[in-house]
Amino acid sequence: MNIPEGAKHIIDTLVSHGFEAYIVGGCVRDMLLDREPEDWDITTSAKPEEVKSLFRRTIDTGIEHGTVTVMIKDEGFEVTTYRMDGVYEDHRHPKEVTFTPNLEEDLKRRDFTINAMAYNDKAGVIDLFDGRKDLKNGIIRCVGDPMERFDEDALRMLRGIRFAGQLQFTIDDDTLAAIERLSDTLVNVSAERIRVELTKLLISDGADRLRLAYETGLSKYFLPELDDMINTQQNNPHHCYSVGEHSMHVVEYINAAVKEKNTPNGIIDKRSHVALVFAGLLHDVAKPKCKTTDEKGVDHFHGHDALGEKMSGEILRRLRFDNDTISLVKCLVRNHDLRYHDCKNRGMRRIAGRLGKDRMPFLFLLQRADTLAQSEYKRQEKLAVLDAGMSLYDEICEANDAVTVAELKISGRDLIDEKGYESGPAIGAELNRLLEMVMDDPSLNTKERLLDAVR
Ligand code: ATP
Ligand code: MG
Repeated sequence: MNIPEGAKHIIDTLVSHGFEAYIVGGCVRDMLLDREPEDWDITTSAKPEEVKSLFRRTIDTGIEHGTVTVMIKDEGFEVTTYRMDGVYEDHRHPKEVTFTPNLEEDLKRRDFTINAMAYNDKAGVIDLFDGRKDLKNGIIRCVGDPMERFDEDALRMLRGIRFAGQLQFTIDDDTLAAIERLSDTLVNVSAERIRVELTKLLISDGADRLRLAYETGLSKYFLPELDDMINTQQNNPHHCYSVGEHSMHVVEYINAAVKEKNTPNGIIDKRSHVALVFAGLLHDVAKPKCKTTDEKGVDHFHGHDALGEKMSGEILRRLRFDNDTISLVKCLVRNHDLRYHDCKNRGMRRIAGRLGKDRMPFLFLLQRADTLAQSEYKRQEKLAVLDAGMSLYDEICEANDAVTVAELKISGRDLIDEKGYESGPAIGAELNRLLEMVMDDPSLNTKERLLDAVR
């Protein structure tokens, strides 16, 4: 197994001072699966003060729970003292944690068998709960009695579904039954912790496992809108799925495109990827509220884009997302049904100016995913219109056409210095008028021609 040098050094140092030390949890699981671990956690019999005395640079990350971050070069490793969790009071926190000299006790408190293994080069894999067998069979199973383990910390239920998605595993029957029985205890868990798990699930290859959150009753307590979406059928030629199923397929198409780097702007950073999957999940979130059925029995969803913008903002705020993510998701939801039928360059400049040039490739990606997750009715036409819009966008980018006041070759300062304007709202109005002219005819965007055109 290939442990990073820094983790090896920490383990060797601890062991040479008479302590036990192992890598533990997610990194052991990922190593056995040949996946790249997110982080390398170390568990040790040494007390936090002892850990701190052995390494030059340490940070008290969670010292009351026994966790110290040890910095090796510029990489940090969380080193946590073996511990047992005391009695859980409120479905989320142990009342107290106790350090223990016993590795087994430390592994027993962990959530799933596949997350409860430890490893070092000398001892090999320590696997007391058949984690390797569950890894091989693709099973998510609690360590010990699932009812007890979920009762201690309700977040584990959502974590179980998250791992089922990330690893494309099946949840063991008893574990799944316990989620169904205890789903309502999720209300005790903070929005931040829920957001972390939901996000990891949605950007994973098995994002559609979100369906399990609906089936077990869990989603009712963190995303009741999903239940409404799954319960809303769409009887019209464009669709072949319920709103909820359609939306999960959109998320899957987005993930596939990001993974294959098959996106209009190439490699997408993690934050934008997160915003995109939430836009994919929520673009039709208002459809249940906007649904009408005409005399022929065909369903319509007028106004779902505008109401969807509002609802997705509220949902993401509830989940404590940052403002940049909320703003991008709202913009994508609001505009997901924008069409480029009669759009010429001048129309595309206005759209790009209104939404922000950088956001257009994300909108195109969402729209492509949206189309592919619909019925095949008029699919080729829809994709052709989208391609035409993307070509127009490429042209205006290539030509570096101005689409915002900031890109004009004159500024408010020029209006004051050369045209006798006084500072005030008239300047903004005039710059906007000039921008309108430039968006119709980009050749006007020179300082000379714009000064001539100033009123
Ligand atoms: P990731 O790949 O997302 O980092 P992970 O399994 O490493 O997944 P972490 O949240 O980093 O998950 O936690 C590290 C380890 O700590 C887990 O593998 C598990 O052993 C234990 N753990 C984390 N959260 C809990 C929890 N709520 N209840 C019990 N054990 C937990
Ligand atoms: Mg981890």
